Amino acid sequence: MARYTESQCRICRREGQKLYLKGDRCYSKNCSFDKRPAPPGQHGKANRRKSSNYGLQLREKQKMRRMYGVLEGQFRKYFAMAEKMDGVVGENFLSLLERRLDNTVYRMGFAASRAQARQLVNHGHFLVNGHKVDIPSYLVSTGDVISVKETSNGIALFKDVKEGVKKTVPAWLVVENDKLTATVKTLPCKDDIDITIEEHLIVEWYSK
Ligand code: SF4
Repeated sequence: MARYTESQCRICRREGQKLYLKGDRCYSKNCSFDKRPAPPGQHGKANRRKSSNYGLQLREKQKMRRMYGVLEGQFRKYFAMAEKMDGVVGENFLSLLERRLDNTVYRMGFAASRAQARQLVNHGHFLVNGHKVDIPSYLVSTGDVISVKETSNGIALFKDVKEGVKKTVPAWLVVENDKLTATVKTLPCKDDIDITIEEHLIVEWYSK
């Protein structure tokens, strides 16, 4: 399966924004972006020129794609799905990405990063409505209950979730840390996204 091989911290520096790709390190003094926010490469700051509209659209698309860890083909499919849905295309698009099971696990506070959440889902540690789902791109729906498989409860990470400091979760999820479960209360909307996204630029990019 294709994967990004570029350093995740370089991605933040290229996009000019912290994308929180590395879990706990992103919140520590070791965050590379906090230390050196200039774009990667020999000429660093000089490369952060004023962008054309084309450049702005491209960067916004890449930023969002990399934040969710989705490859171009699948990203484009989400856009096609968003166009067919009722409502505003850009907002539908954001909601679809946020509903991915790997993102949901991350937003529940059961993984330190989306990449770790994807690995946990791939390894079959999660159930949706009592059935094992090991597909990170699975889209959760209102009323779905996501839980940790009973035989996975003993993993140190999940023990921490039960006993450790509870993380802030978005309003669309109701998390019960003691039961290692979460319920999808409502579908996520733009206000639930944890970084600033100008989705109209992405809509313009794909609408050419
Ligand atoms: Fe980005 Fe900082 Fe996290 Fe590296 S540590 S992925 S630069 S937010």
